[in-house]
Amino acid sequence: MLSYQVIENGAPLEPRERETPAPEGTEVLVRVAACGVCHSDLHLWEGEYLLGDGKKLTLADRGIKPPFTMGHEVVGVVEALGPDAEGVEVGDKRVVYPWIGCGSCDVCRRDRELECLNQRTIGVRWPGGYADHVVVPDAKYLIDYTGVPTELACTYACSGLTAYSALKKTGAETAADDVVLIGAGGVGLSAVVFGKSVVEGKLIVADVDATKRSLARQSGADETVDNAAPDAIAKVKEITGGGAAAAIDFVGRPETARFGLNVLRKGGTLVSVGLYGDAMSLPMVMMPLMMLNIRGSYVGTLQEMHEVMELARAGKVPPIPVASRPLADANAVLNDLRDGQILGRTVLKP
Ligand SMILES: [Zn+2]
Ligand SMILES: [Zn+2]
Repeated sequence: MLSYQVIENGAPLEPRERETPAPEGTEVLVRVAACGVCHSDLHLWEGEYLLGDGKKLTLADRGIKPPFTMGHEVVGVVEALGPDAEGVEVGDKRVVYPWIGCGSCDVCRRDRELECLNQRTIGVRWPGGYADHVVVPDAKYLIDYTGVPTELACTYACSGLTAYSALKKTGAETAADDVVLIGAGGVGLSAVVFGKSVVEGKLIVADVDATKRSLARQSGADETVDNAAPDAIAKVKEITGGGAAAAIDFVGRPETARFGLNVLRKGGTLVSVGLYGDAMSLPMVMMPLMMLNIRGSYVGTLQEMHEVMELARAGKVPPIPVASRPLADANAVLNDLRDGQILGRTVLKP
């Protein structure tokens, strides 16, 4: 099998050939049809997150060291089953749920694998989809996508799932609960298209890029604002009649998080999703006086992935723009993504 691997953090990925693994136990071998290139792949590739004040969180400290194969938005065809694998047949087309825990600890047994301390995330700690084959630990992580275009289906495993889970964490309940989505990149746009399935109130998209704002409007955003404009907060207050019930920060910079907090009404919630990095200070008295909530959200659960795919299969989710490139273009796509040159999602096809 062929993989494009990180050999050295930040250096171009390199093609590597190795024997295609035979699935063992409950494992399933999937022939990759497409794999999305995600913003978080940039962090994996570069090997660090920025914590602010010159501090960094390196992936090597977290046990993620080259060589490894990225790619956690994988879709493909079942090619072989391990002797104990059940629930799929050779030839089945499936999307892979990649956020897999050890399977045996307390949180894994309670279906809270995201909290597992011994992750087996495909494309992070387990060989991923920048390759022509992927081994999946169990068929329960393979989800039917009948009726959904293959290239689009893989985007639901990360950007779609992340967006959906963050929308659910806003606590928006009624038509009066408006939600501000900050950042209209791949995940932010996914939140726009899933938004109407979760949020009854207005969806207001904030982005500094006019092209991305216009794409957000075409994708179903009720309103858009330029969050770099001096009147941006006032504009959101006007649209929402005093403040939003929630904001989701899909960027994760101090400026975007601060903007998110500043547009909230009393009791509002900021859901922090983006991993751009750096640090910010908070005026402490505003937290109790405004009864604000800040919560982090990382991808989503297997149960939420089933909900996402149910909505997609039912045709309730307008497609985000998806472009296909050959797997051999992996480096060029990563560079384009880093330079902000990608609208929606780009998928690699072996
Ligand atoms: Zn991702
Ligand atoms: Zn576990």
